[in-house]
Amino acid sequence: MRATQAHIHLDNLRYNIEVIRKFVSPKVKLCIPVKANAYGHGATRVAIAAIKSGADFLAVASVSEGIELRESGIVSPILSLSLPTPDEIPSIIVHSITPLVFDKDFIIELGQTAEKMHRTIPVHLKIDTGMGRLGCSYRDAAEIAKLITSQKGLFLEGICTHFATSDSLEEDDIAYTKQQFTNFKTAIESIKKCKIDPGIIHCANSGAVLLYPETHFDMVRPGIIVYGYYPDAASENERIQKHLEEKKGCPIPLKPVMEVVTQVVSIKRISKGDSISYGRTWTAEEDTDIATLPVGYADGLFRHLSPELKVMIKGKLYPVVGRICMDQCMVNLGTNHDVQRWDTVTIFGPQENSPDAADLAKILQTIPYEITCGINKRVPRIFTGL
Ligand SMILES: *Cc1c(COP(=O)(O)O)cnc(C)c1O
Repeated sequence: MRATQAHIHLDNLRYNIEVIRKFVSPKVKLCIPVKANAYGHGATRVAIAAIKSGADFLAVASVSEGIELRESGIVSPILSLSLPTPDEIPSIIVHSITPLVFDKDFIIELGQTAEKMHRTIPVHLKIDTGMGRLGCSYRDAAEIAKLITSQKGLFLEGICTHFATSDSLEEDDIAYTKQQFTNFKTAIESIKKCKIDPGIIHCANSGAVLLYPETHFDMVRPGIIVYGYYPDAASENERIQKHLEEKKGCPIPLKPVMEVVTQVVSIKRISKGDSISYGRTWTAEEDTDIATLPVGYADGLFRHLSPELKVMIKGKLYPVVGRICMDQCMVNLGTNHDVQRWDTVTIFGPQENSPDAADLAKILQTIPYEITCGINKRVPRIFTGL
């Protein structure tokens, strides 16, 4: 098998879900997003591990992601978070995928198709309270809820919204989350006033699970914290950890689930003045040993990680030098090292001394989501721990 692999520690996934459970009341259902191949971790195996660890619902980004889970035998409720196209409607019904709905045309078409197929399918009404992505205005919630309940083929199983700034402790962002929360409650009340049961009420993503217990309602949808990371950029994470430490007496320790490893495939001594890789961006200042690793930007090791990235070999960190290539990169070992050919190299993961995806995200000024989602398909996922 290829040296470059992503080890998926399902025991850490279970651990993170247990930690989350301590934050939300036992009555609150857990919906675990496994969209985008479970944030890059492998949808089917993660979904099964999440169900075993107590997930009540799964969430996917598209109908095809939902079908993949159904075809592997998963029977739990599956929410599809993005709006499907009309031609996907029969698949939604056949595979029992629960869509989020919010516009009249789609609701009527879905309802009529379901009725023709002699089915009554559950839908969740999506409210836009300030994310500006999907959903009807919270002012129109009651009208749309009435339309759903008027369709024989549909059953209003839940109502939801999504926060834009729940992972931030900036004053403006806190005010915005509170406004979204108020708008959502307005929508719920307007539906109840029409004597319609809104069903399962849910809105909390990772940020809201950690910082806004009042938003937990009947179900929460934590994604990134299940995979072992705080939602925002590194600086904000420190603030979140401190905040939780003050509020809860301890920061919640999360364990990264993905560990990307490879092997040293060659070591060679180069001389002072020799350059490494495309563009000759790095030149040896003295004689040194260079290790070549079979991992590159096509695997998700983004080019801009060089020159800051360090990798771990036998518990020690070594810098990646020169440009990261499509399939390979080079590491400066110096001359005083005990690294041997075929030694294991950790690119990122849960180990004490190794970088994690948040460290890589920091270098790229992005969020850990993009790092784990970016690990390419050609990197085999090896599942351990459950
Ligand atoms: C992705 C997603 C989530 C999970 O978000 P995290 O920030 O990973 O917790 C929850 N709800 C919706 C609608 C999403 O798209």
